[in-house]
Amino acid sequence: MPRNRAFPFSVAGHGTPAGRKRPGSGKDEMEEKTESKNPEAGQDRQEAGALPQAGRRRGKNGHSHILSRGRIPGRSRGSKSRGERRAPGCLVRLVLAFILAAVFFGIGYETGKNAGDGGASFVPETRKYVDLSAVKAPDWISQEFIDVNKYSRPGIKLNQVNNIVVHYVANPGTTAEQNRSYFAGLANQTGSSKIHASCHFIIGLDGEIVQIIPIDEMAYASNNRNSDTIAIECCHPGEDGKFSDATYASLVKLSAWLCGELDLTQKDLIRHYDVNGKICPKYFVEHEDAWKDFKNDVKKALNE
Ligand SMILES: [Zn+2]
Repeated sequence: MPRNRAFPFSVAGHGTPAGRKRPGSGKDEMEEKTESKNPEAGQDRQEAGALPQAGRRRGKNGHSHILSRGRIPGRSRGSKSRGERRAPGCLVRLVLAFILAAVFFGIGYETGKNAGDGGASFVPETRKYVDLSAVKAPDWISQEFIDVNKYSRPGIKLNQVNNIVVHYVANPGTTAEQNRSYFAGLANQTGSSKIHASCHFIIGLDGEIVQIIPIDEMAYASNNRNSDTIAIECCHPGEDGKFSDATYASLVKLSAWLCGELDLTQKDLIRHYDVNGKICPKYFVEHEDAWKDFKNDVKKALNE
């Protein structure tokens, strides 16, 4: 395919080659500010929405979820007569016991698409703490960090990684180096509309893996999940977004390594699509079986 197209066009687009409108780009497209090349008011949303996500998801959400259950007995009590009020006492105690147990076992509640495999899921608060700054990349990862800048490497620290998000560059035939250059070049933007976009890893057409942002720093790739995820961009030869065998093999290898280092499993791999419905990575969105196969391949790699 058109490998030698002039750069930059719209790599960052996780789905939007230059000038093309992506289906499903919506209001919350943070990194899309990128892709759409029309970030309008979007640029500051990224910073704003990104930071508190992890805390909100596990702390606030989980907490309020539990609390809402706790109020049930109080409400029903009010609607009953005086004589009936004492009867539900043991029920109240039961509910309280449940709440205590829930808190004790540290159940976190995660809603909606952020959950990953679609639908709601529970995330154990007991995941072991991982010192992200201490994770050392193996020699099959080429670390070529881009400079810290407000558009593609904000330098904001990640506290915890809860998911790994897979993307496709949406620019058929472009290489890992071209995509890296694109993200690095965002630092020097001029003009009124600014693009914010990046990722942690880019996997090239020949399976080469380039890391452009340290894993203890935030990238701009996955909208409101930037603050607790690692982002992998994959190059692809054609418009259908299907990865080459070499790219696929490296994606499995990198994902398994990251899972091992970050105390995650293949279940914690999600698509950009699972974050906000964007058609990214296209092939894995349009071929659900291929996405399941991919996660199974990562599982196998984890067990090896
Ligand atoms: Zn994407």
